[in-house]
Amino acid sequence: MLPESVLTQAAKEMLDWQGHGMSVMEISHRSPEFIQIAEETESDLRELMQIPDNYKVLFLQGGATGQFAAIPMNLASSTDTADYIINGLWAQKAAKEAKKYVNVNIAATAEPFTYVPDQKDWKVSEAAAYIHTTPNETINGVAYNFSPEAGPVPIVGDISSMILSEPLDVSKYGVLYAGTQKNMGPAGLTIVIVREDLLDRARDETPLVWHWSDKSIAGSMLNTPPTYGWYLAGLVCRWLKSNGGIKAITEINKRKAEKLYSAIDESDFYNNNIQTAYRSKMNVVFQLANPELDRTFTDNAYPRGLKNLEGHRNVGGLRASLYNAMPEEGVDALILFMKEFEKKYG
Ligand code: PMP
Repeated sequence: MLPESVLTQAAKEMLDWQGHGMSVMEISHRSPEFIQIAEETESDLRELMQIPDNYKVLFLQGGATGQFAAIPMNLASSTDTADYIINGLWAQKAAKEAKKYVNVNIAATAEPFTYVPDQKDWKVSEAAAYIHTTPNETINGVAYNFSPEAGPVPIVGDISSMILSEPLDVSKYGVLYAGTQKNMGPAGLTIVIVREDLLDRARDETPLVWHWSDKSIAGSMLNTPPTYGWYLAGLVCRWLKSNGGIKAITEINKRKAEKLYSAIDESDFYNNNIQTAYRSKMNVVFQLANPELDRTFTDNAYPRGLKNLEGHRNVGGLRASLYNAMPEEGVDALILFMKEFEKKYG
């Protein structure tokens, strides 16, 4: 979801952005007008996430999946080893892609993905190039409840499904990355936040579009950046700032998740099997006591405006994503529907 006020503003500015007689899509990415959009977005993101000055922020294409390959290419040589912490399907996919470029050591795995392994139990390799983590596992609904302790080995975090949803100590990470389509804008824009001292490790064969150092020198404009996505992400950042920033949204997100998990826990008809301490506030997965009713549930929910409740195709069941733009009333409406559905089919 995107905030309604953001979509309304984008609609209003569609044909004529700030009196320039053009849509943002028609403005050259090298024009002063677009540079202004680009700089404001970066500055607002830095302010919201309190990104330290010794980190660069890149605006790229290729999604988080592109970064699954870009990370080893930018941080490791082909003979290096990188540690991966597997707490869900996205971490698994990240490790699988990385194997093409680096020796992957699975330092911890938490199958069947109902918790996050304690950092003291990670079996890290002696001289890893980096440690890859996934603070929020979108498909499995499992989230870290701690920031990893940073040591000499840089920690990489895939924050695709939790960026801007709660406080995050950027300084604990060497690299953070996210596709923006969940909490920050449309699909097509990828954010990479990288500590400056890590910018000298890229392999020569790293594709230019994912070469963090070259991209950083060019202000993410080595080639045409995803300008409209960049603009929309800027509107989302401004919306978040004017609504109290990370502090305010954290409270709202906490309330939304607590309500929904309570409704699930109070019922024998619905179930969530993630260990309580590691339940995601963004992606609430749940199962019906009778999985044959999954389809009836989503079919009945749809006309009530309750959409996209199917679990990921790899895990089945149901999933409610409570990203920043989902208002609390949306969660209330879902809970009301769940109670009615249970009365009828339970
Ligand atoms: N990592 C996580 C945690 C995700 O949630 C997703 C997308 N759902 C991805 C990676 C893949 O992102 P993309 O589709 O932008 O490549």
